[in-house]
Amino acid sequence: MRRAVCPGSFDPVTLGHLDIIGRSAALYDEVLVAVGLNASKQRMFSFSERTDMLREVTSAWSNVSVTSFDGLIVDFCKQNDVQVIVKGLRAISDFDYELQMAQMNHGLQGVETMFMTTNPLYSFLSSSLVKEVATYGGDVSNLVPDVVHQRLLARVREQS
Ligand code: ADP
Repeated sequence: MRRAVCPGSFDPVTLGHLDIIGRSAALYDEVLVAVGLNASKQRMFSFSERTDMLREVTSAWSNVSVTSFDGLIVDFCKQNDVQVIVKGLRAISDFDYELQMAQMNHGLQGVETMFMTTNPLYSFLSSSLVKEVATYGGDVSNLVPDVVHQRLLARVREQS
């Protein structure tokens, strides 16, 4: 059984994330989407909102499940019998940091990292950019799943 994890904050999940999750689901027997609990960061969506949205938009893949992690992702991997961390690479700027992380994670626990190149449609896409554009009234409907778009519009309305 090959089990992979796609870790992140998913604040909120975008079509870029979904592309990586779906392609991972085609490669591995099981994919765990692990939402970081890191409470120190300011988020637009609470942990349960982020996981609810993720569950909804990944429900079509029977081998994908959504869970959480706190602390080191390699400890999560050991506890859950996960052999591989999958990371999406958008640009060379992602690579610098991800390479360091991958080498550290391999050194700590022998967990492998697989890099998946982003679909060029989403290479500029990040959760933070989506939030910023949506906050100023820009149209992000083609960058996030519909359910996320509705929640994003509602949150922006609440905050204004
Ligand atoms: P973090 O809070 O760790 O920055 P994110 O939730 O923003 O995490 O993203 C989680 C992971 O999803 C990233 O590390 C990256 O591997 C992948 N990812 C994010 N956006 C994209 C995208 N547009 N295309 C491909 N992969 C992406």
